[in-house]
Amino acid sequence: MSTIDEIKQKTDIVEVIGQYVTLKKAGRNLSAPCPFHSEKHASFFVFPERQSWHCFGACATGGDVFAFLMKKEGIEFGEALRLLADKAGVVLPTFTQPGPKKEEKEEYFKANEAAALYWNNLFLYSPAADKARKYVAKRGFTDKTIADFQIGFSLDAWEALKAYLIERGHKEADLLTAGLLYQGEDGKTHDRFRGKVMIPIKDARGRVTGFGSRVLDNSEPKYINSPQSPAFDKSATLYGIDRAAAEIRKLDFAIIMEGYMDVIMAHQYGVANAVASMGTSITETQVNTLKKLTRHLVLSLDADAAGEEAMLRTVGSENVLGAEIKVIRLPEGKDPDEVLLEGVEKWQDLVKNASPLIDFMFEKTTAKLDLAKAGDKSAAAEKLLPVLAGINDPIRQAHYLQKLAALVKVDMNTIRESLNRLKPAAVRRRPTAPKAMAHTGKDLREEYCLALLLQHPELKENLGELIPEYFENSENRTIFQAYAACADVVSLKESVDPAIHEHIDTVAAREIPSVKNNIEAKFIDCTQTLEDKYWKNLAARIAESGNEGAEIDLEQVMEISRQRKEIDERRSRKRTPR
Ligand SMILES: [Zn+2]
Repeated sequence: MSTIDEIKQKTDIVEVIGQYVTLKKAGRNLSAPCPFHSEKHASFFVFPERQSWHCFGACATGGDVFAFLMKKEGIEFGEALRLLADKAGVVLPTFTQPGPKKEEKEEYFKANEAAALYWNNLFLYSPAADKARKYVAKRGFTDKTIADFQIGFSLDAWEALKAYLIERGHKEADLLTAGLLYQGEDGKTHDRFRGKVMIPIKDARGRVTGFGSRVLDNSEPKYINSPQSPAFDKSATLYGIDRAAAEIRKLDFAIIMEGYMDVIMAHQYGVANAVASMGTSITETQVNTLKKLTRHLVLSLDADAAGEEAMLRTVGSENVLGAEIKVIRLPEGKDPDEVLLEGVEKWQDLVKNASPLIDFMFEKTTAKLDLAKAGDKSAAAEKLLPVLAGINDPIRQAHYLQKLAALVKVDMNTIRESLNRLKPAAVRRRPTAPKAMAHTGKDLREEYCLALLLQHPELKENLGELIPEYFENSENRTIFQAYAACADVVSLKESVDPAIHEHIDTVAAREIPSVKNNIEAKFIDCTQTLEDKYWKNLAARIAESGNEGAEIDLEQVMEISRQRKEIDERRSRKRTPR
């Protein structure tokens, strides 16, 4: 079994989505108001038997557990895979093959360093960078900060950096792999970052591994990072670690913030033990890096919903750290830099009064509840028990169980019983007890179609009606999308997360029954099979959900059937000779 299949087998989509959304039973399935668009009724469905989800409302999209995490967390496939691997207790193989050789990686660092220097110079001296300088001044960055963090500006041009670096002897292919350039549909390469404030991201050794960037207008997304590359692994990156490591060791604690702007301001105010995770959740790799410097971690995440969700998931990091994590309570509605602006003493007070993560969650959970009411009592227990079940340290676990018992005024035995009822789910996730006959969602039709494409790159010239949505497995969809922008399998591998290489190899090696000269006909057949499968599955989901009295957006369903009809018509036109 491949690693991806193993992870799927040990993952329950209901459990994962249940951490983000309160799911209600709807017959065999579950539903909730969609977490991706705002709505009052529930058009978001989870199908346990298919291990998939779908929003029948405004999103009109769905997929497997990976697709959910990718969308919800704004992450790429590889990162979603790592998150789920962590949870499932699956150790991902270390990707030594066909990783780049040391010298090659060195090339990417050199290119990144040259780019950082180039963009920093533009920021400092170019008239074109006026807007960038104004933005940075508005945020309150001093000249020293700009120099320390090598803040830059990328020209709003397609080939400015490319021309500059190639003239200095860098190879186009290296720049592409490092993510400084990207390849357009026409096969030409262009500067990836244009008209943006540039923030070099460095590893603990001070090498530039990638970049963060911020737009200067109102366009979305505001922040774009370098893509995953041999030099840049987002899930292992801690922004600011190059400047913070010594101070973290000295003070024996680290502050983890949400974004690079927070870290830059913290350092400017003399809080030099601050780093940022590159996303809302903290990965095991990041905790392991910090663990070498200190066992005391203090979180300073924004007090919004995303920040709170991230904290929920941080409980697992406590087990990796083998220590308690603390949380800074920011005054209502304030960002860290607003507090710093009021004086470093204020900040230090907040740090001194940081609460243990679990206590913080008790407070957050119960703040909106009236614990005199029976319903609110069970709501509190329902929310907190799974968190407490995740604590490995038995003494700390007992402490918090007692706290919960006292809070909801229920005796310890009842709480223990409820905890034990939760246990089977936790045990099921252990690698030693895989779910029997679990659904891996492996789809040979999708893989066959991908195999044809990978083995016959010329088919890419005319993808016809094949669209990413027809690949219902996220790993296949990810490959399809990346491949569409690449020349061949080699550059495909360079452009995707190494976690997916194993799957590419498996698919690329899949044997295709001899097809002689009619590859194209075979491919059209294949496309139609996927198309039919997609619509059939969608119809089945609609039927299932509708039968259960769910409110389904009728307009969406009409739209879907309209599209379906259109495709049928197009096909029959094609079949009729002119
Ligand atoms: Zn939706």
